[in-house]
Amino acid sequence: MAREYYTTLGVSPDASQQEIKKAYRKMAFKYHPDRNADDPGAAEKFKAASEAYDVLGDEDKRRIYDRYGEEGLKGVNRHDFRSTEDIFDAFRDIFGGGSPFGEFFGQRGDRGGRARGRNLRVNIEVSLEDAATGTQKVVNLRKRDICSECTGSGSAPGTEPSTCSYCRGYGQVEQRQGFFAVRATCPRCQGSGSIIKSPCTACRGHGLVENTSEIQVDIPAGVESGTRLKMPNEGEPDPETGRKGDLYCDISVKEHPIFIRRGPDLVCNLPLPYTLAALGGQTEVPTLKAGKMEINVPKGTQNGDVLRLKNAGLPDIRYGRRGDLLVKVFVEVPRKLTKRQKELLRELSEIEGANIGQERQGFLDRLKEYVKHVG
Ligand SMILES: [Zn+2]
Ligand SMILES: [Zn+2]
Repeated sequence: MAREYYTTLGVSPDASQQEIKKAYRKMAFKYHPDRNADDPGAAEKFKAASEAYDVLGDEDKRRIYDRYGEEGLKGVNRHDFRSTEDIFDAFRDIFGGGSPFGEFFGQRGDRGGRARGRNLRVNIEVSLEDAATGTQKVVNLRKRDICSECTGSGSAPGTEPSTCSYCRGYGQVEQRQGFFAVRATCPRCQGSGSIIKSPCTACRGHGLVENTSEIQVDIPAGVESGTRLKMPNEGEPDPETGRKGDLYCDISVKEHPIFIRRGPDLVCNLPLPYTLAALGGQTEVPTLKAGKMEINVPKGTQNGDVLRLKNAGLPDIRYGRRGDLLVKVFVEVPRKLTKRQKELLRELSEIEGANIGQERQGFLDRLKEYVKHVG
């Protein structure tokens, strides 16, 4: 039974298709020529792994190989890898642009004139109110667009670019790397395949000119500082292909004078007079959306207690549920007293002297114990 391909990929002969794929990805990752420019041996290993995967990664070819070995594969349709490009083309599912693997190796999927323009990034600041409800923002963006004079060619109207002599218009040059050829972007024409002799004056040969564009951005409810919104195809175009990059909007939410945000919840501090905290009652609290709302203060409310107003927070951008408003009570001791207030408080103080509160009694008891030990 033939084993060589299994050894190459480092898998056992009864490995599942998933294991084989995984093993190949690992090897391709390790020996990829782009990552091993100064090691010609890597390119050979990359090719060998690819050949093994070409057979073992295909149920039919693998069955033949298992039974008849290399010999059996004669006449069977196999990939002929003469360059790294051949390998990328054969295993698009592995090297394709969509996979995290493809991203690692750069914009492989965008070769061959499908290049996209630059991605752009913009900061957008919104108020907490806007973050709660969602809003629309118009952003003025400096971005480059296709030059209307030369329609992106970069050549002065009426002139034609000449074919690049270095790559003969191909845009890529072959470099020997160990066992087989690796293609690289032509250093003279940067891959365009042509050289501009008389550059367009409007864009100085770049094919792009800078404009200010107004872009309307829909900001969903629940955004927070650090939220990044992606607007596909709102970036810059590639002068050659016209394909646009994306625009990324980084959101920051302004600080609010009253509310502090904690995820989808809002927190606000509410100073309350001692009497209201003791007796209980109704009081008004500010809300972000509905103006002021009445809230019930239970009698005996303590400093630092949190009163919760259900669903008066912000929507959660991920789960859609709405947060709460947490009202943190701050019992205020008056700094200035009228004569009448003083009289009443003195009277109260006499009663309190006779009726010591639970907390204070506990404290006094602990203090007594402590003094006994120390003394
Ligand atoms: Zn131009
Ligand atoms: Zn060239």
